[in-house]
Amino acid sequence: MVKLAEWRGKQLFRKYDVPLPRGAVARSADEAAGLVGSGKVPLPCVIKAQVLAGGRGKGGAVKFASTPEEVRTAASSILGLEFKGEKVREILLEEKLPIARELYVSFTLDRAARDPILIASARGGVEIESVDDREIDRQLIDPFAGLTGYEKRRAAKVLGITGNAAKSLDRLLDALWKVFALEDAELVEINPLAVVGDRLVALDAKVIIEDDASFRHPEYAEIRDDRTPLEEIAREKQIAFVQLDGNIGVIANGAGLTMATLDVLKEFGGNPGVFLDLGGTDDPAKVAEAFLLMAQAKPKAVFLNIFGGVTKCDTVARGLVEAMGQVPPHERFPLVARIRGNHETEGIAILRAAGITSVPSLKESAQAVVAATGGRA
Ligand code: GDP
Ligand code: MN
Repeated sequence: MVKLAEWRGKQLFRKYDVPLPRGAVARSADEAAGLVGSGKVPLPCVIKAQVLAGGRGKGGAVKFASTPEEVRTAASSILGLEFKGEKVREILLEEKLPIARELYVSFTLDRAARDPILIASARGGVEIESVDDREIDRQLIDPFAGLTGYEKRRAAKVLGITGNAAKSLDRLLDALWKVFALEDAELVEINPLAVVGDRLVALDAKVIIEDDASFRHPEYAEIRDDRTPLEEIAREKQIAFVQLDGNIGVIANGAGLTMATLDVLKEFGGNPGVFLDLGGTDDPAKVAEAFLLMAQAKPKAVFLNIFGGVTKCDTVARGLVEAMGQVPPHERFPLVARIRGNHETEGIAILRAAGITSVPSLKESAQAVVAATGGRA
């Protein structure tokens, strides 16, 4: 997922005419002072840290300023912050609007209903997770019909919006829906949506772009979550591969078994360093390819924990033995296998022929791997 900083989210909002305060981004106190000096950002103004974490308001990462001096001071103090582990490199300066009420609206995907959902609450300005469920209104949106007048009217009612403001809300929701649908977002959230006179203005923007649509969005290539070079190769080959800090390589199949395997290793004092989920493949070449990728991460020992289903035990064993043969002798590592399930007998025989014994007990096999790395067993 690509989580956009507020100012990037607002750039998308602007493209579809979601009403916003006037503002601009700065990367230094001088630049910030320049923005108010030139009148590009009117005073008084709000200065906001551009970090991905929420709760900036409460955490001192949103400040107000009424004079150019105050802007400079606030800007340099925020730019010096490390907010929830993230260094602040950019700030957003915006005109300070007189807020009558703070509301909440968002479009996101309801995974259970498999439909988009419009969430609205009159209790904006605080994290939606902390709002009483009875004060949150949820409406599923038919993805083919799109957002209709009915949903917008119900939202207006829930938000307590009437008259001209209701017209403003109607246009805003249409615009926000477009951001959601046309920009491949999995979340577009405005919190707070401010009532300013009879206008509505998006004071904050949280936008998350759907990963599966990333091929349509080269513009986010630079800000996409950091992958290691090996993870990048794995992604291109469509191999589920994650690198952590430890020294044990884990090969399992299915997310559930993979996670459980990591837990068991931790339980016995092991330190899983990279894991690979074979998922449901029945191609030994694919297994070999994945295994060689793992070998490049230079694990101290590898734990193969397979429950044969669609991915049969003998397929995995064949791929593994083939790949092991390609790892240069000085780069080899101890390997502990535990393979069970579909075609187990054939798999065990293939491994045995290559000098690898399958240990049936999860506890004993996990302890053996940990011991092989010199950890507690
Ligand atoms: P978050 O805490 O990280 O979600 O940051 P927000 O963008 O939601 O800002 C936090 C709070 O700052 C908001 O709930 C508002 O109360 C306040 N705030 C932000 N912009 C303005 C503004 O233009 N005028 C006023 N009066 N308050 C603002
Ligand atoms: Mn907010």
